[in-house]
Amino acid sequence: MPAAYKIHEHTFDMVVVGAGGAGLRATFGLAQKGLKTACITKVFPTRSHTVAAQGGVAAALANMGEDDWRYHFFDTVKGSDWLGDQDAIEYMCKEAIPAIIELEHYGVPFSRTEDGRIYQRPFGGMTTRFGEGPPAQRTCAAADRTGHAILHTLYQQSLAHDAQFFIEYFALDLIMDADGACRGVLALDMSTGELHLFRAQGTVLATGGYGRAYFSATSAHTCTGDGGGMVLRAGLAMQDMEFVQFHPTGIYGAGCLITEGVRGEGGILRNSNGERFMERYAPSVKDLAPRDMVSRSMTIEIREGRGVGEHKDHILLDLTHLGPEVIHEKLPGIAESARIFAGVDVEKEPIPVIPTVHYNMGGIPTNYHGEVVQLRNGNPDEVVPGLYAIGEAACVSVHGANRLGSNSLLDLVVFGRAVANRAAETVRPDGKQAKLAGDACDEALARLDKLRNANGGTPTAVIRDKMQRTMQADAAVFRTGETLSDGVRKIREIHASFADVKVSDRSLVWNSDLIETYELSNLLGQALATIVSAENRTESRGAHAREDFPERDDTNWLKHTLCSVAEDGTTSIDYRPVHMYTLTDDVDVVPPKKRVY
Ligand SMILES: Cc1cc2nc3c(=O)[nH]c(=O)nc-3n(C[C@H](O)[C@H](O)[C@H](O)COP(=O)(O)OP(=O)(O)OC[C@H]3O[C@@H](n4cnc5c(N)ncnc54)[C@H](O)[C@@H]3O)c2cc1C
Repeated sequence: MPAAYKIHEHTFDMVVVGAGGAGLRATFGLAQKGLKTACITKVFPTRSHTVAAQGGVAAALANMGEDDWRYHFFDTVKGSDWLGDQDAIEYMCKEAIPAIIELEHYGVPFSRTEDGRIYQRPFGGMTTRFGEGPPAQRTCAAADRTGHAILHTLYQQSLAHDAQFFIEYFALDLIMDADGACRGVLALDMSTGELHLFRAQGTVLATGGYGRAYFSATSAHTCTGDGGGMVLRAGLAMQDMEFVQFHPTGIYGAGCLITEGVRGEGGILRNSNGERFMERYAPSVKDLAPRDMVSRSMTIEIREGRGVGEHKDHILLDLTHLGPEVIHEKLPGIAESARIFAGVDVEKEPIPVIPTVHYNMGGIPTNYHGEVVQLRNGNPDEVVPGLYAIGEAACVSVHGANRLGSNSLLDLVVFGRAVANRAAETVRPDGKQAKLAGDACDEALARLDKLRNANGGTPTAVIRDKMQRTMQADAAVFRTGETLSDGVRKIREIHASFADVKVSDRSLVWNSDLIETYELSNLLGQALATIVSAENRTESRGAHAREDFPERDDTNWLKHTLCSVAEDGTTSIDYRPVHMYTLTDDVDVVPPKKRVY
């Protein structure tokens, strides 16, 4: 073991890594249940990416028209292109209603209807009467700053309860024991450079997505999938990594998001002829088709020469007809973003937009309690003792092959709450901690020591740039066998080049060079899992569109991909069955059929 690393040891019932919507909901829920809980976060809680969520959070409250959670269930299954687990989707859509009312009571300042109820807007793929009725108004919004409102409220609730925060602590690695159970996490206090071991009966990963594996993403620079990186290093598999959501409306050039709520309020996509082209691709729901479809339609328009601008390489989002009143009241943040990042006055001109990486459907596989599961000894649902995952880091899987807009904020609060409920049943307050072997932290420390002293020839930023550009080009909206096998070869090389990384700062205090190197290594494992899983899946489903296999193939591919990545870059693939059953008789299983809107 490398000498001279002093470790401060803490003991908690539960430790949560991450203070975004998912992490905070779990943290105060656990504390509320009387469990001694720590929350570790690399950024100040209210700076987590959840703060940037704009459009809203789905729940069939029926405040503004007919709705039913069963319709929401149907839409989510169909939106997932049947890859979502129907037991988990039932749980989420049913629990959505109490979870949102609870948020309201905690103090989230939702926008209001005339009669004082929570305001709800239409969103892509959200319909009524099992897809037969008109679009549902299901997405609860606080103007176009819903994530901001939710995150601040959840942080205030966390402070009101007795949880302990460790802010600007960077989790390095999970501490696993010889039996494969998780016993806690090793973290670095970035401001002092001191190491802290958090021993716990349960460790919850709520570390968010890994959008930054790509060059152009709506996600924050902190979205580096650290939880997934730690999981891969612990020898566990990630699930459905080939499914990466491109949001149709990232601002051209800047990559910042323009919420789908804009189209929910009546915004229209137009090509260079001024044509509302979505009428051709999704005649019934038009601009409010799900994201995978809209992104593909835009890409086809651009390819066929109907893109706008000098290079004919983007599309216009027109909201000039909405009028200043709707824009000021419902979309003030968007007007500001468009002005700053595109130089556009949305009352007078359309916004230039392009499909941009936005969300990871794949992640750490869990059941609907948030417990991490793996395929072991023929059991596809075996729980990894002591390890949980929630939020974008996890793959429950409620989003399957394509997430519907406003179902992620919902996923955060529903499964953050579910973990707290589960732990209340299974974890004893102040219970006995399992004995930890004397060398339990050695591997993590050796890795820290190695990276800190890494003296190769390639700076972190150079490797990162190559990875991001390759993913952007070869694991894009449309994929072919050729681009994917080329991409796999390149990403393998880039992954291997990490052995030659150079870290110039040798200190431990505020060493952003070292932290970025950890983040890069977390991204690299997941980039590799993503592109290898994408090459392996020879069908088109949801966000995974293969030009060489344009149809969905339920006979061979109605299954979750599991992908593990060894430290040396060796990958292996396996599968778990999709849960084609519900939890109760309250709702019927939706059998697979063709997905048209
Ligand atoms: C611009 C934008 C707009 C969106 N709008 C919507 C919307 O309107 N509706 C919707 O449903 N969804 C929306 N989404 C998706 C949704 O917001 C995200 O999926 C969700 O917020 C992720 O939340 P999270 O809690 O899982 O992670 P995050 O909010 O990303 O938080 C991750 C947390 O983990 C911590 N962390 C990470 N790594 C480490 C480490 N190594 N050590 C310690 N701490 C660590 C971070 O400090 C942070 O606190 C949007 C996403 C984006 C990018």
